[in-house]
Amino acid sequence: MLEIVEDGLNLPVPPPQIQPEMSVFWEALRVGELLLPHCRRCEFVVWSPRPYCPKCGSFDVDWVSASGDGVVYSFTVNRRGKGFNKKYQEIGPYIVAYVELAEGPRILTNIVDADVDSVEIGVRVRGVVHRAGDDVIVRFRPVEGESAHVDSSGGAP
Ligand SMILES: [Zn+2]
Repeated sequence: MLEIVEDGLNLPVPPPQIQPEMSVFWEALRVGELLLPHCRRCEFVVWSPRPYCPKCGSFDVDWVSASGDGVVYSFTVNRRGKGFNKKYQEIGPYIVAYVELAEGPRILTNIVDADVDSVEIGVRVRGVVHRAGDDVIVRFRPVEGESAHVDSSGGAP
């Protein structure tokens, strides 16, 4: 456990950029569960997370736990790394992809733990949470020895 210091800070502590109604999503992702908003009225599975359904406009949205399984829908290899974020300039080529989740949504993400020249459209992938402190992001890695059926039992509890 780390000591929590609240008084006498030299620097301000900016509030996190998390909408209160989306905190459930982030708290789950911090322990490895990918939640997807699900419209109870029209059954649409929503991405990106938001407290309403962009398809029918309903606010009757709950959460479903994603299996973490998906396929590469489209991707590009970024080899230049001249983005505004300095950290991205030092890592070499990386893959930006749309992954189509088993539950339906296509999410913009990265493919990791893969040779950038080996990834193809249609490759089966599985989600992985990258965490730095309280910051988390879901990314995907190719499934080793991909097979025809998807075993979703490896999902988060
Ligand atoms: Zn809906």
